[in-house]
Amino acid sequence: ETIGEKLERTAEQFGEREALVESESGRRWTWSQLNEVVDQVATGLLDLGIEKGDRVGIWAPNCAEWVLTQYATAKIGAILVNINPAYRTHELAYVLNQSEISTLVSAVSFKTSDYKSMVGDVRSEAMGLKQVIFIGEQSWNDLEATKADPERVSAAMASLDRDDPINIQYTSGTTGFPKGATLSHHNILNNGFFMTEAQGWTEEDIVCVPVPFYHCFGMVMGNLGALTHGTCVVIPAPGFDPVLTLNAVEGEKCTALYGVPTMFIAMLNELDKKPRDLSSLRTGVMAGSPCPVEVMKRVISEMNMEGVTICYGMTETSPVSAQTLPDDDLQRRTETVGRVHPHQEIKIIDPATGLTLPYGETGEYCTRGYSVMLGYWNNEEKTAEAIDSGGWMHTGDLATMDEHGYVNIVGRLKDMVIRGGENLYPREIEEFLYTHPDIDDVQVVGVPDEKYGEELVAWIKMRGDAEPLDADKVREFSNGKLAHYKIPKYVIIADEFPMTVTGKVRKVDMRQTSIEQLG
Ligand code: ATP
Ligand code: MG
Repeated sequence: ETIGEKLERTAEQFGEREALVESESGRRWTWSQLNEVVDQVATGLLDLGIEKGDRVGIWAPNCAEWVLTQYATAKIGAILVNINPAYRTHELAYVLNQSEISTLVSAVSFKTSDYKSMVGDVRSEAMGLKQVIFIGEQSWNDLEATKADPERVSAAMASLDRDDPINIQYTSGTTGFPKGATLSHHNILNNGFFMTEAQGWTEEDIVCVPVPFYHCFGMVMGNLGALTHGTCVVIPAPGFDPVLTLNAVEGEKCTALYGVPTMFIAMLNELDKKPRDLSSLRTGVMAGSPCPVEVMKRVISEMNMEGVTICYGMTETSPVSAQTLPDDDLQRRTETVGRVHPHQEIKIIDPATGLTLPYGETGEYCTRGYSVMLGYWNNEEKTAEAIDSGGWMHTGDLATMDEHGYVNIVGRLKDMVIRGGENLYPREIEEFLYTHPDIDDVQVVGVPDEKYGEELVAWIKMRGDAEPLDADKVREFSNGKLAHYKIPKYVIIADEFPMTVTGKVRKVDMRQTSIEQLG
């Protein structure tokens, strides 16, 4: 089944039920309305000469048009290329050229981002770019107002195969330059299904999606996960805003809520200021980066999300590879990323030898199955580095697995700090420091050190107006509880951490800044 076929079936099955809501603007669509508008946009794209396999870029913060573009391109087999709304001209030009985008759908502007003028700035550099459609302007309005030609759309759909590439998603760029993962209908539609199936979603559910659509968390786990169960998607705001997100959950009586850990921390802080009625909430997902146990516990108890699950995965694996289940015991639901997803295999290997390690030992998480991407777009070399000849995707993440199959993500191979010959995993130290009552958020990185090779730096955000901690106080707090070599030597107090737009901490930047600040 292709994504377009799934949309038609869902529209047949749940036509009168709500499919998509923009809570700020008040715009709403039922499944059959959504399917009709998608046919209009799809016909408009065919009129523009777009064919199967052509690349259509989308560069916009979250909005209904994003979703319409996603489904319209899926119906006609054009490959949608998600472009990060935080990009600036240099990165935009890179993506336009790297994935050879012929048509770009773009927002005009949002907050300080003047997309339209940035598109103007790079147009002459983007060799293959033929046309740009601006959401909110005549070019989009014309597209959406095209008279649908269901026969042509059906003919286009009939020429597609579930294993065709349908989407290029660039990775978050947490560890370096983003890479374009090429994904098929089969990859992402199934992943969305299994992920929401694990949470027991039905057409009665309403999911609030404050995470960006440009990222797999929004477009696969959000949009496609919802599509496969007839669940309604609520867009609380174009960009993440804790106030508008909580208002949307309350106002639309959402049953599920998504977020990366930093978003949940912001929402918990907002709830401290102004409580909301969250009695409609039941499930949701925390994912994308290490999910602190304390934050998970607070989300369960203070946000009424007993069924919240943790997902682990990556853009390259569609994305989810492991997930906790609502009926796992509390400890496993908060301290692990659960077990492997259906129809995938995983193994933990010694990155040096490639051999599978015994239970409990730390090594690289590898996965194989339907969910592994087709490859990095136009980058055979990187593809061959990531997917081995046996079909295993090497994630670059360090993990352990217990004898019941529960997985713990220890950290990224690249973030591991080697101090005096000892392998240190920042995650473990962060988890410990989170238990300090005055610490709101903490990240640990390594900096070069003459004596030990590397030393640890803790970046700390203080809670409210708590007295800032220094290295001595952190040492005092940790003494006797953490091995001495795991206690950070340096402390940097910060109001903000450097972030990707997906809300992930850029440790590469922190490392660099630490080196500069500490001299
Ligand atoms: P890049 O590959 O460009 O450096 P990225 O790896 O952050 O960026 P994504 O594909 O968005 O890009 O993120 C996948 C990564 O996020 C995983 O490899 C893992 O390191 C991290 N991650 C995802 N979910 C979890 C989780 N539940 N716990 C810990 N880490 C997670
Ligand atoms: Mg990655």
